[in-house]
Amino acid sequence: MTGSVHLVGAGPGDPDLITVKALGLIKAADVLLYDRLVSEDLLSCAKEDALLIYCGKMPGAHSMSQERIQEEMARHALRGKRVVRLKGGDPLIFGRGGEEALALAEKGIPYEIVPGVTSALGAAAAGGIPLTHRDMSASVAFVTGSRSDGAASAVRWDLLAQGADTLVIYMGIGRIREIREQLIVHGRSEDTPAAIVERGSTESQRVLVGTLGSLERLAEIEKARNPSLIIIGETVKIRDRLAALARNASELAG
Ligand code: SAH
Repeated sequence: MTGSVHLVGAGPGDPDLITVKALGLIKAADVLLYDRLVSEDLLSCAKEDALLIYCGKMPGAHSMSQERIQEEMARHALRGKRVVRLKGGDPLIFGRGGEEALALAEKGIPYEIVPGVTSALGAAAAGGIPLTHRDMSASVAFVTGSRSDGAASAVRWDLLAQGADTLVIYMGIGRIREIREQLIVHGRSEDTPAAIVERGSTESQRVLVGTLGSLERLAEIEKARNPSLIIIGETVKIRDRLAALARNASELAG
């Protein structure tokens, strides 16, 4: 008797942003394998006797290897358990969901992928930064900032610099200098509006606004930390316009 595995997106941070389907699966799970960015509130919805397995990185320790995670999922599923692999945001956006689906398929274990609100969407909404706009942005790219030059599929900053109107960069906070240099060398203006959204959609969210040229200094001064996203593009200006209108409205009301 084989159980099942669901690869589930937990959403961007605010636990209320999980899907109805995902919440139902968490409540029914026998085994829950979860990552660092998954909210405690969601884990507390699991059955009392559910087995919770932490797969993220402990401070000063190694995280569980990808092979080990895949073995654990398979092992429990083969014993007939309902396994939920819970990931921050969406499993297929920088979440290794594809690798895990392949590993399950190779072993003939039934699985299903349940999408989640990726942090780019959560941060954009919570920060008041549209990712597209009729007058300013017809395209948006989700990019990883952490891939080194030697990686099998290196980031094409040369094409991205001018290839997408809005760039949302995941895992880029430690590499702002390199990102800025690459984008400017390849033709993006240093005056392009840019923002860092730290812990987007959570109670401790911070939004730092500057330009592509000033972002590194801003991150340093404000000590921006992970998890953070970098959003680069003209639509970042909308945030200030929204804030100014909100100020006017409250002055009028007050
Ligand atoms: N699968 C996830 C991304 C995992 S990669 C998703 O779809 O969102 C981890 C990176 O996601 C972090 O380094 C950070 O860049 C981003 N991230 C995740 N949660 C975030 C949050 N609440 N606020 C800002 N960035 C976040």
